[in-house]
Parts: sequence; C-alpha cells; structure tokens
Amino acid sequence: MRRVFVVAIDGPAASGKGTLARKLAAHYGFAYLDTGSLYRAVGVGAIAMGKSPADEAAALEAALSLDVSRIDEKAIRTREAGEAASLVAVMPAVRAAILRFQRDFATKPPGGKPGSVLDGRDIGTVVCPDADVKIFVTASPEIRAHRRWLELKGSGSTVSETQVLEDTRERDRRDSERAASPMKPAHDAHLLDTTDLSIEAAFGEAVRIIDKSMS
Ligand code: C5P
Repeated sequence: MRRVFVVAIDGPAASGKGTLARKLAAHYGFAYLDTGSLYRAVGVGAIAMGKSPADEAAALEAALSLDVSRIDEKAIRTREAGEAASLVAVMPAVRAAILRFQRDFATKPPGGKPGSVLDGRDIGTVVCPDADVKIFVTASPEIRAHRRWLELKGSGSTVSETQVLEDTRERDRRDSERAASPMKPAHDAHLLDTTDLSIEAAFGEAVRIIDKSMS
C-alpha cells in the first residue's frame, strides 16, 4: 500500500499550532485536519439540542451524529464554543466516537494526498502514535491570550484581555489535567516554543524538522 507521511502537531490553545499546521500542509501538498474543530462542533451540537455541553448523553449524541462536511465554521469559532469543546473533550465516549474519523483521515487522506497534517492535543500520543513527525508547539499563556484576544476583537467581540487570559489558563488546566487523553508532548515530539517567534520563523523551524525526517 502507498505510504502516507503523517505529521502530528499538538499544543495548547492559541500556541500558533493551527496556523503552523495549515501552512505546513499547503507547503507539502498534504491534507489538513483541525481536530479541535470536531470537539467544538460537538459542543455546539449539544447546545443546539438545548442541552448543556457538560451533559454526557447530549454530548455523545452530538458526537455520534456529527457530519464533518456540515460544520458551521463561524459558529464554532466563538469563545463559548471553545469552552463547550473543552467540556465535551473530557468525556472518553466522545473521544472514542471521533477517534476513527481522525485516524482514517491521517492514514487515508482525502484527495489521495501523499501525507496528512493533524493538529490537536493528543495527536502524537493517542490518535497517531506512529506519526512520522511530532511537534509540540508551546508559548507563554500571556502571549497566547494576547493572540486569541486580538482574534476575538477582530471578529467583533468586546471581551477583555484579562478575561481571555483567565479562560486560557482554565482551558490549559482542564486539557492537561483530564484523565482521558490529557494534553502532553509525546516522548518523541520536537518542542517548538513560539513565544518569541514569528509565524515565518516557527514555520521555517518546522520545515527543517520535517525535511530532516523525510531525507
Ligand atoms: O484547538 P481548539 O482550541 O480548537 O480546541 C478546542 C478544545 O477541544 C480544546 O481546548 C480541547 O479541550 C479539545 N481538543 C481535544 N483534543 C484534540 C483537539 C481539541 O481535547 N485533539
């Protein structure tokens, strides 16, 4: 069977991993999957049913009926959707329900692409433990909160930067302390700290890591 090159990018919210993963996929002609969007869509799905995202039965129903081709990009990018995502993401049944889709995407990328780039929290540890390259992207909570605040402000939100920093710390805590697939670097992941790096510099560093493992 044709060999697919898999790149796993993990890291906390607003570390720059999404931008980096998207740029890498475009550079190598690989398929790209933002796995956070799946958890966001499940959280928003539970809310759309009139239920709380913390309601396990509702979250599981939303996960099992998730149609990835119909995710409303605008609805899942709000602060509330991020919050809802991290609530449903602690549930093992929800994680199990979307695991196969993620693995299939990685190993059989759409469009017959020669590789895939997935970003999330547990790609290198759980979803694709055999990925060819694993990168764990970090940055200080302050700089991540600042980036996220700028994004939210740009889309019309009036939330304060202090509030976004508080949300960021709470989300980090929930994502790294949960029992099911907690956020942590895989033992064989390359650590990439973007606190003082521009997007271009982080991209250059990631390309260097990937090119090396391809040769
Ligand atoms: O990356 P993003 O902020 O869109 O992710 C939203 C939430 O989804 C995260 O805070 C995390 O709780 C959850 N998530 C996860 N595993 C992934 C991707 C996202 O638990 N692979």
